[in-house]
Amino acid sequence: MSGTTREPRPANRTAREFEKVYGYPPEGVWAAPGRVNLIGEHTDYNDGFVLPFALPQRTEVAAARRADGMLRLHSAYVPSGVVTLEVTGLDPAHPPQGADRWTGYPAGMVWALLDAGLPAGGADLHIRSDVPTGAGLSSSAALETATGLALTELYGIPLTRSALAVLARRAENAYVGVPCGIMDQMASACATEGHALHLDTRTLEQRHIPFDCASAGLRLLVVDTRVTHDLADGAYAQRRASCRAAAESLGIPTLRDLPYPELEQALGRLTDPVQRRRVRHVVTENERVARVGELLSAGRLRETGRLLTEGHTSLRDDYEVSCPELDLAVSTADAAGAYGSRMTGGGFGGSALALIDVDAEPEVTRALAEAFRRAGFAPPHVMAAEPSAGAGRIR
Ligand code: ADP
Ligand code: MG
Repeated sequence: MSGTTREPRPANRTAREFEKVYGYPPEGVWAAPGRVNLIGEHTDYNDGFVLPFALPQRTEVAAARRADGMLRLHSAYVPSGVVTLEVTGLDPAHPPQGADRWTGYPAGMVWALLDAGLPAGGADLHIRSDVPTGAGLSSSAALETATGLALTELYGIPLTRSALAVLARRAENAYVGVPCGIMDQMASACATEGHALHLDTRTLEQRHIPFDCASAGLRLLVVDTRVTHDLADGAYAQRRASCRAAAESLGIPTLRDLPYPELEQALGRLTDPVQRRRVRHVVTENERVARVGELLSAGRLRETGRLLTEGHTSLRDDYEVSCPELDLAVSTADAAGAYGSRMTGGGFGGSALALIDVDAEPEVTRALAEAFRRAGFAPPHVMAAEPSAGAGRIR
């Protein structure tokens, strides 16, 4: 149940599996991580700021080029076998559905490269991942990014990591049909080990801020509640619409353009109480990203905890995207000695994050299991996360 019990990852396993599936060895293996957002939630579609870091869990793609323009896809995570597509036939108007829906992520990545006029082509891909799917840890961005990196390196396409992330997001938006922001792909493509990635989602300007928990005697626990509430999709669209409408009422392009010192005055100009709460979350959250960034830069890691819990309260009460399982994870971790904790990701399920002393891990983990049991919830999955490297070639 803890970070020390992760599945071992023999370096050649993904390559060997490729050979079993396709009958010949791959040209290489590429990997891209999942991510956790330390702070800056629901800010990316408001042109705001985010502060994610990459997980040690990653998605590996073993790949080889094909000269015949076919794209063959296989994932160790999906039992249904190899899916064969034609690269020139990839069409965002007809994304794969049902059991093959997952192929939209890698196929969409290939489509996004081609649609940008880049010379990608056919390939055989085998995918293996230890990023939990649907836990708010961005297995989707890991899959897109690892696929994109494999294809660009195999076909000699010069693309910066940021540009790759932009195309990966386009794959998810336009091909899979998920209206996500840019944070997940940027974190997976660009994060560096021992750092959090401070990202301005408008300019894509990045700052890598040292975030070495281990040296500070700290640990980050990721608490996967293992629930996803149905509200997620509809509520996400509503929140986006609400933010857009509020920005329009205030006469600004996006909520990012409302500086924190002007928040109270702006709230006075909004008549809709729901819009007021949404605006207050986004603007205070951007401010929290700035403050957490400053504290990390100053090496004052423990002091970020209070801001994490403040962020959770704001997501729960003003943005209304939490759920009983996430609230319980946060209140339990905080009561058991965490410096602070918060839901991370879009909400309505998925994971929470807690900043604790290394020594407190057994107590916090035990308290979480006990609290979930008493509430009648399924046991949460708790893992330790260290800020890890972004995407790269591993073989
Ligand atoms: P998250 O990104 O938070 O994990 P999403 O719903 O955005 O959740 O993406 C999860 C989906 O991505 C899965 O349902 C599946 O379609 C696809 N996916 C992720 N990882 C893999 C994998 N290793 N093999 C096949 N499909 C995957
Ligand atoms: Mg995702």
